[in-house]
Amino acid sequence: MYILKDVKSTRVKARAKINLSLDVIGKRHDGYHDIRTIMQEVELCDMVSISIAERSIEGSNDIVVECNCGKVPAGRENIAYKAAELFIKRYNINRGVKIAIEKNIPVAAGLAGGSTDAAAVLRGLNRLFGCRADEQELLDIGREIGADVPFCIRGGTALVEGIGDVLTELEPLPRTEVLIVIPCIEVSTRWVYENLDAGRINKRPDIEMLLEFVKDGRIDLLARNMANVLESVTAEKYPVVNVIKDKLKSCGALGSIMSGSGPSVLGIFPENHPAEEACKECIKEGWNAIITYTSGKNILC
Ligand code: ATP
Repeated sequence: MYILKDVKSTRVKARAKINLSLDVIGKRHDGYHDIRTIMQEVELCDMVSISIAERSIEGSNDIVVECNCGKVPAGRENIAYKAAELFIKRYNINRGVKIAIEKNIPVAAGLAGGSTDAAAVLRGLNRLFGCRADEQELLDIGREIGADVPFCIRGGTALVEGIGDVLTELEPLPRTEVLIVIPCIEVSTRWVYENLDAGRINKRPDIEMLLEFVKDGRIDLLARNMANVLESVTAEKYPVVNVIKDKLKSCGALGSIMSGSGPSVLGIFPENHPAEEACKECIKEGWNAIITYTSGKNILC
């Protein structure tokens, strides 16, 4: 029988990420792909509650993970479990933890929902146990968990390279309205990368040019020139991705692009043209649609 007695707790926002462009440079010998992408944190978030528990009577199973969404596994299968396990081991923590995830980020949508929960667990445990690990230490643990976890630890705006683990912080973008549209299909990231064929890519992003636009805060130029090479796989099999992109542009978005491996598609809206009407139009089409805003870098405490 496992008895938990909560003694101290914290709540951490686990924000989603979007890709403002994504290029795949090549396939590595270990099967992973080297990418070059501009990632942006958005305000859409899960809430991760973490509490310190008494040790279990048997001295095992000291980490409990629960989630209010049926599509997300509880316990060991949840990526948040791995984050807690690695952190507890690294800092020789002799207490159990209970993690409760309130899911708001659509699952398996290309928004790094799992990775951001894992990153929030690392930040939360660091605060809860007063470990004072610096960002670099957390990034090192994050790399062991998954490719998107390092970005989710830091947040903000970044150029992300390697398999997703090499980060260069960029100038924060002006706060911008983003409409994220999620069609009712599930796409496996692994399947998308396995089916990527360089010969079928018809538009690659000019990342160097986009970095200049980020530096100058030219969200309009950035939005108009976004490209994601993974659309050549996902949109080929699911034409709804291109239908949503066109819809967003016809509803006033400066530009639209699939996020990560999809299937979610985002539209960037100008200040003088709010996304509300576009959001209603998308919901009428039967898609899930969420209005959010770009967000700044995470502060460790
Ligand atoms: P990425 O953008 O990093 O490729 P994603 O947003 O497409 O990720 P997730 O929402 O992270 O995908 O979900 C991928 C799978 O991971 C899900 O099918 C789910 O079963 C599993 N999973 C494990 N833990 C979590 C979690 N905490 N939140 C969401 N999914 C999780």
